[in-house]
Amino acid sequence: MLHVIFSVDYEIHGNGDGDPKALMVEPTARMLRLLEEYGAKLTIMADVAEILRFKEYAERTGRDDYGYQAIVEQLLQAIASGHDVQLHIHSSYFNAVHQQDCWAQDWSEYDFAMLPYERMDWMVKTCKEYLESLLKPVKQDYACMAFRAANWSVSPSTNVVRALLNNRIEIDTSVWKFGRRNGAVKFDYSSAPSALLPWRASEADICVPDRNGRLWEIPIYTEKRWLGAFLARGRLYRVMCDVFHKGPFHLSQAKAGQGEPSGPGGPRRRSRLAALKALFDTHAWKADFNQCDGRQLVKALQRAERLVPQGRDLQLPFVLIGHSKLFTPSNEGTLRPFLAHIARHSDRFAFGTLQGMGSFHRQWAAL
Ligand SMILES: [Zn+2]
Repeated sequence: MLHVIFSVDYEIHGNGDGDPKALMVEPTARMLRLLEEYGAKLTIMADVAEILRFKEYAERTGRDDYGYQAIVEQLLQAIASGHDVQLHIHSSYFNAVHQQDCWAQDWSEYDFAMLPYERMDWMVKTCKEYLESLLKPVKQDYACMAFRAANWSVSPSTNVVRALLNNRIEIDTSVWKFGRRNGAVKFDYSSAPSALLPWRASEADICVPDRNGRLWEIPIYTEKRWLGAFLARGRLYRVMCDVFHKGPFHLSQAKAGQGEPSGPGGPRRRSRLAALKALFDTHAWKADFNQCDGRQLVKALQRAERLVPQGRDLQLPFVLIGHSKLFTPSNEGTLRPFLAHIARHSDRFAFGTLQGMGSFHRQWAAL
């Protein structure tokens, strides 16, 4: 049986602008209402690094301009209603400074996988302790046990795997097979063993299975697709948001402390064109519920079923990704056929969460 996991990255725009109430709280409330109609569960991947900045801002100024209380209430309510909250980290927010209506981030800490082990370990520990102290009072057995890096940056892997394990994080869900980036973050996940089936990750390379590994990689479901598969309306919206609200455009500029490039026809414009081209050159098609419509997702789920080893009663995750900031009202309509399909075929599919997957590790060891 496939357990369909709706994971949503809960954050403002990558460049530090945007209102958390509009980009996180409001769309997530719509998402929760929609999923609950079908008995589905949401796994909120909360960027605790930025949430901690919003908290500190409210405490320092006495003004809750960034909706910290609304965020806390939403996370508590989600857990109380049987949804899940797990960890997402945009590391550049830890040293972020509030400037006018924006958060100026520390771009030297943008690429999570490149941080020194001690810094990474401290970040994971700080965020895990925050989530557990917040959420255990409403759910005794709540555990922060799953992680997704900002921009899927978990390569090189040695420090990441060690830091996650040191903080009793059992699951990483950053890898998507066929995924490649060669910009502000760099990775190549084309060698990942599966687009669907979890594996025990090697410390040396998260894409290499290791029977003795203690961290489970649960990949975001991906397919290699032709260009036409990218042309759902939601995906176009995502492309435009990525291009116009992305964080550092060139790591070299970020490292030099130059912030973002600007000016008409200048490097920013060229970067936008390059970003558009790069997005359309990439043929990795993620199961992204902002960008794919319900009909596409139903077909992807049917293809994923064929990857399940036959003859064994295995409980396996099918991880979708989404972003609260991109969840438009039209997403609600396009997602309904997918939700209805899963609910109608309860003999083959279930609605799951990442923490809920924790009990199935033993089964997966035999994969
Ligand atoms: Zn993110």
